[in-house]
Amino acid sequence: MSEKRSGNAVCFRCDSCGEEVDVRSHVNLCPHCGGLLEVQYDLDGFKQSIDVLRDYKRDSIWRYRDFMPGVSEKNIVSLGEGGTPLVKSKYLGPSLGIDNLYFKNDTLMPTGSFKDRGYSLAISYAMDIGIKRGITYSSGNAGASFAAYSARAGFPSVIMVEYQASNMKKMMISLYGANTAVLNFENFTQIENMLDKAVTELNCYSFVNFINPIRHEAMKTYAYEIYGELGRVPEYSFHPMGTGGGVWGTWKGYNELAALGITDKVPKMVPVQPEAVCWLKQAIDSGADEGRMYGDSTKTIAQSISGNSPLQGGHRLLHAVRDSQGMAMAVSDKEILEAMLDLGREGIGAEPSSASSVAAFKQAVREGKINSGDTVVCVITGTAFKQPNAVERIAPMPKYSLNADVDEVRELLEQLNML
Ligand SMILES: *Cc1c(COP(=O)(O)O)cnc(C)c1O
Ligand SMILES: [Zn+2]
Repeated sequence: MSEKRSGNAVCFRCDSCGEEVDVRSHVNLCPHCGGLLEVQYDLDGFKQSIDVLRDYKRDSIWRYRDFMPGVSEKNIVSLGEGGTPLVKSKYLGPSLGIDNLYFKNDTLMPTGSFKDRGYSLAISYAMDIGIKRGITYSSGNAGASFAAYSARAGFPSVIMVEYQASNMKKMMISLYGANTAVLNFENFTQIENMLDKAVTELNCYSFVNFINPIRHEAMKTYAYEIYGELGRVPEYSFHPMGTGGGVWGTWKGYNELAALGITDKVPKMVPVQPEAVCWLKQAIDSGADEGRMYGDSTKTIAQSISGNSPLQGGHRLLHAVRDSQGMAMAVSDKEILEAMLDLGREGIGAEPSSASSVAAFKQAVREGKINSGDTVVCVITGTAFKQPNAVERIAPMPKYSLNADVDEVRELLEQLNML
């Protein structure tokens, strides 16, 4: 076992060549072959803290700090991320004959998206191991989150935000006080190459999902929190998928619960992409062992999940879907917009990308894939507030207007059959 462990994190292991790398070293990718690194833990160490997993209390992700790479107290940068409500569906689930449908409402995170889980951990860890500067590429929400946490931590950073992001997302990055640049590109492979070179030639530490080996470790907290609140694991876990860090980290968390003997199964994992770019579904349906670039990322309203090519072949995601006997799904913009209205009626304002999990759930029910007794969780990843023009398309300005006169209020109530 390495001398330089971090809490219960023992080392990184390379997905491709199996090489073990010091978990506190300043690397993004495997120094030997450039493969993706994964944090390995000491399971006996986890057992010391197992009560934290068994008894649930709504708290931040730091409740689970013993299950993530260790960070000393003084380097933790936290704004209250995680511990979001698991809201039971009152209308949509029952209307489709599924009584146990839940929404994990991460629109309530500090910067309005689930990205805060990952950045709280990754920036804290970067400070802890002495990283001096960071860069990231973002479809918008990651940038806002990285901005908030790096500014709060006093951690020097640059954020490249893709040109398609809404102005609000771009402005939020500036509001949090971070350096930002708009990123123009033709396809995601270009971005991947540029980031590779920034890491190897400019010695930057990258915070892009998977290239950064820490961020998605925080997504394990989805599994811990959902299990904690339900007292069991759901049959299905639906996730909007961009790079796949969210869904993959969640799958890893569920597997840890199983390895610790807390649960005896892992949910079927269901990553959801827009039809326009559904490379994972293409690969799963064709039985491929590698994902390939597919479609056009400008052709969907779900801009946060519009990436059209897998990182390093997408092996992690193919494996998570197959191993959990899950499915990869694709939804149209029309289905997404309808799902935003379904969520609105449940009291949740979601941006298009985050409503894709609900759109896919409806499709799966229509196709007879969900049993009426199944418990289903749809992760709702980001708030409607940051993509106002999408909201405008489905939720028009008020139809009625009146003067401040009680007679006009009476008239309106009569018109609405409320008197
Ligand atoms: C980033 C993002 C996603 C995709 O997350 P990945 O971890 O990249 O798969 C989904 N929904 C929203 C709202 C996002 O901001
Ligand atoms: Zn390697």
